[in-house]
Amino acid sequence: MGEVIFVGAGPGDPELITVKGQKALMHADRVIYAGSLVNPELLSHCRSEVLLHDSAGLTLEEVIRLMKTGVDQGESIVRLHTGDPSVYGAIQEQMDALDELGIAYAVIPGVSSVFAAAAAVQREFTLPGVSQTLILTRLAGRTSVPEGERLASLAKHQASLALFLSVQDIGKVVEELKEGYPISTPVAVVYKASWPEEAVVRGTLEDIEQKVREAGVQKTAQILVGDFLGKAYARSKLYDPDFTHAYRRGRDS
Ligand code: SAH
Repeated sequence: MGEVIFVGAGPGDPELITVKGQKALMHADRVIYAGSLVNPELLSHCRSEVLLHDSAGLTLEEVIRLMKTGVDQGESIVRLHTGDPSVYGAIQEQMDALDELGIAYAVIPGVSSVFAAAAAVQREFTLPGVSQTLILTRLAGRTSVPEGERLASLAKHQASLALFLSVQDIGKVVEELKEGYPISTPVAVVYKASWPEEAVVRGTLEDIEQKVREAGVQKTAQILVGDFLGKAYARSKLYDPDFTHAYRRGRDS
């Protein structure tokens, strides 16, 4: 009996897949990959006999059928999703369908584009005295967002925030964010983080909409919002010479 392995491909740079994910690709008999966002260079790790399927034009039922066919033949099947598969990856419905068929599967996590975006702007989401919370969300599109998670109400927390799947509606994003964050709040829009064509547009809630339009960014971008993008914050306790913790004795103790 074969098995299915869901693998996080990482944000784009083919070196940002995990070692474990790369090994799964190297051993796979069949790979079903999300062609719209997964870097095709990753497929070069596969054996020459591998069967490749781009899932971009497939339905859930067709994907599951391919998995069942492969598993019945004893294959090892990799389902390759962009970033980390647990974030807007639509893997739950696949796992539930496999459960129904009694097919075994495993999940190998990946580097989400939200973290590649933070790396691109060289900022930390959780700064002492600024924010200790990171909100990952999206604007409602064809997929709705529950009422309690409306962007305008999440904005009221003034936490560090990252928006997936939303840059095409940057005007609406800004309008809702302004209901919670001050107009001077920094925003960075990171297009194709970790790809060679990566680009960063920086601004504030006041001017980011215009800057994004000028840059022509309409998809594959993270919108990062919050004062963590600014310069002011308190030092961490962890590396404070006066602070004692389990691994280090502070100066005063
Ligand atoms: N599971 C993926 C997200 C899939 S949803 C992850 O963990 O990253 C697709 C959305 O992710 C895109 O609309 C965009 O908002 C974001 N995205 C994916 N790759 C990206 C990249 N390299 N740079 C910036 N945003 C990216």
